[in-house]
Amino acid sequence: MKYAIGVDIGGTKVAIAIVDETGKIKMHSVISTDITISAIKMVHKINREIERVLKESGISMNQLIGIGVGAPGPLDSKKGVVTSPPNLKGWIDVPVSRLVEQHFSMPVLLENDANAAALAEKLTGAAQENDDFVYITVSTGIGAGIVTEGKLLRGLKGNAGDIGHTVVDPSFGRCTCGQYGCLEWIASGTAIARQGSVIMDKDITSKDVFNLYLSGNVEIVHLIERVFRVLGVACVSVINTFDTEKIVIGGGVSKVGAPLFQSIQTYVNNFALNETGRKTEIVPAKLEQKSGVIGAAALCFNR
Ligand SMILES: [Zn+2]
Repeated sequence: MKYAIGVDIGGTKVAIAIVDETGKIKMHSVISTDITISAIKMVHKINREIERVLKESGISMNQLIGIGVGAPGPLDSKKGVVTSPPNLKGWIDVPVSRLVEQHFSMPVLLENDANAAALAEKLTGAAQENDDFVYITVSTGIGAGIVTEGKLLRGLKGNAGDIGHTVVDPSFGRCTCGQYGCLEWIASGTAIARQGSVIMDKDITSKDVFNLYLSGNVEIVHLIERVFRVLGVACVSVINTFDTEKIVIGGGVSKVGAPLFQSIQTYVNNFALNETGRKTEIVPAKLEQKSGVIGAAALCFNR
């Protein structure tokens, strides 16, 4: 059996796992992302934790095919550099791949976290049977990983799939990126909480908003139906652009479940441009919590 190490770097924690080629996790560990130390020192800390996990697992270096790292974008996956992620303050132009490679003398691959999660869903999640699909995460932000003909679509530097800043309805006002009416500005968890707080005239979370939605609050129902419609609009654009067979949706907002999936599915069935597009399945992600590390390891298997 071959193994790869998956590292998922997030704003608050770093998850590390040894994963086999079927996507099963052999060992798993989590450390905090220490923002009081430099990014380079933090990568050294990650290296030491990888070493510790490896030692404890009893897996030898020659059973390992590589180390995959998932991190928030923007980044440069070809150079292995994390460039300036809003979710990792102070990580400016950090050569993550080189710093890990020097330590372990084996190939290190870096990708943005949504791309890694897409590969995890392909290896052992909701898209095992699909070579043309898009994974969309609807969480505090919105991002996507695009798989075409069985391979990740990376683009110039590995930032393809940043669909959160696609304009879907300019009447919604100005997004943090400067454009009017971005998908993320309307339909992310952050956006849902912001709009719900205005309606209720107090600070509430996106979870509170969904509870009000499920209890039938008229104004909130109107808000959430608008959110679902806009997500449907985005999915139709994705289907028309990439000719996908399936869209897998994960992230905190997708936890509301059936109402979201039914609503998006209906929109797609009605409005995707061609007949096959209108049959695109919209399904929930299967992996969630562990998709980061499994996907990071899957980078090594998918090469
Ligand atoms: Zn934007």
